[in-house]
Amino acid sequence: MQNVINYTKQLEVKATYDVVVAGSGPAGICAAVAAAREGARVALVERYGVVGGNLTAGYVGPILGMVGKGTMRDELVQLLGVPQNDMIGQTGCAHDFEMAKIRLAEFVNHPNIEVYLQTTVTDTVKDGNTIKGLVVTAGQGAFVLLGKVVVDATGDGVVSYLAGAECQKGREDGLMQPVTLEFTISGVDESKGVICIGDVDDVCLGGERFLDYCKRLSLEGELPERLAAVRLHPTTHRGERQVNTTQVNGVDMTRVDHIFKADLELRQQIVTLLDFFHKHLPGYENCRVISSGTTTGVRETRRVMGDYVITAEEMAAGCRFEDVIVHRAEFIVDIHNPEGSGQAEEHIQYCDPYDLPYRCFTPKGVEGLYTAGRCISGTHRAHASYRVMSICMAMGEAVGTAAAMCAEQNCTPRELDVKKLQNRLINKGIELYG
Ligand SMILES: Cc1cc2nc3c(=O)[nH]c(=O)nc-3n(C[C@H](O)[C@H](O)[C@H](O)COP(=O)(O)OP(=O)(O)OC[C@H]3O[C@@H](n4cnc5c(N)ncnc54)[C@H](O)[C@@H]3O)c2cc1C
Repeated sequence: MQNVINYTKQLEVKATYDVVVAGSGPAGICAAVAAAREGARVALVERYGVVGGNLTAGYVGPILGMVGKGTMRDELVQLLGVPQNDMIGQTGCAHDFEMAKIRLAEFVNHPNIEVYLQTTVTDTVKDGNTIKGLVVTAGQGAFVLLGKVVVDATGDGVVSYLAGAECQKGREDGLMQPVTLEFTISGVDESKGVICIGDVDDVCLGGERFLDYCKRLSLEGELPERLAAVRLHPTTHRGERQVNTTQVNGVDMTRVDHIFKADLELRQQIVTLLDFFHKHLPGYENCRVISSGTTTGVRETRRVMGDYVITAEEMAAGCRFEDVIVHRAEFIVDIHNPEGSGQAEEHIQYCDPYDLPYRCFTPKGVEGLYTAGRCISGTHRAHASYRVMSICMAMGEAVGTAAAMCAEQNCTPRELDVKKLQNRLINKGIELYG
């Protein structure tokens, strides 16, 4: 049987924009709005029927990490009604996902932005090494959106991959962090119900460290070992918990043959966990699931290699760069074990607030293209820190501003004067130095 066919089709060029942003997660929405506020005409393309990426469809919260003052991250945290305590991971509270769907739709509803929902990027239009636009597919069929600059904020680096950029996945053996389906429960008795925000949390239950309690019960056969890291975040509503505990290893979510199997297993794990909560967690006897991710949560897939590849070692030492565009990014190197349960490394690595340079956002060998969000250029360990949502928002804003400037000055990302970009960011009130 023939397993390859030639396929040729004429496609309508629907519109031409200054900036085309693929993906509407924390990075994509900030890139689109930043570019629009600079006066650029923007297309925002999203495969799901809702904007927000992991902030909405993925049911991922709390918004973790920190960046320097004055970025869109501060605006979004306020917009989503998240209490302003320590968002680096000490007391993080998950935002309200249903309200986020509304607030983020309003956020991108800017006169300069055309939002294409339920529209999937399926290919790129290139002239030599320069990207000229995207082939997208929606209910009405495939069509083309041209742009002077394209921003790949798909998380998976789909646009960069389709454009032929060099991509890496996972650590040296190719294994990536596990996938997880987050879910929300209600009906927790706040007078008894424990909160546990993760491996750094020493909260106790009946005199025993809560995570040790779960591990002990797991050894006694009450919970599968890989579900023993039970993370129970508070939400903005009393009696609710955001559960970040299910996990499946060995999954590559860029492979279609992996997706359904992983999703099914994760959804079945919700039932196992609920049973465990009812039986073994005081205050959780009557809890029930009220919502879960519309889609499997993907921590790690492609990293698009750029003109600079940042490492966790540089980040841990609080690196500074002349071409900084995200300043004082702060989060631990948080590697969920690609091979089993818990953390991948013996201990969590703390990072001094670090900078991200412009060159991490320009994919090697492709012109006219930026990356933003978790697919930027870094190592597997570096990615485990900068992937959190606060940092992705600041990346999106910086790159969206840069893309608008390229369109305005009729230049490519590599021709853009980074000093001028930095001045533009500083003039908006964004801290870049100090
Ligand atoms: C289970 C889990 C728990 C996590 N916990 C936290 C946490 O507590 N706090 C925190 O801050 N971070 C957390 N993270 C990390 C964080 O959520 C992500 O790294 C972050 O959302 C990445 O942002 P992004 O904008 O790059 O990508 P995403 O949020 O993934 O958004 C990408 C968007 O692009 C769209 N897209 C993809 N392909 C296409 C295509 N071909 N065409 C059109 N659109 C496309 C997607 O539908 C999506 O909307 C967690 C991640 C997971 C998976």
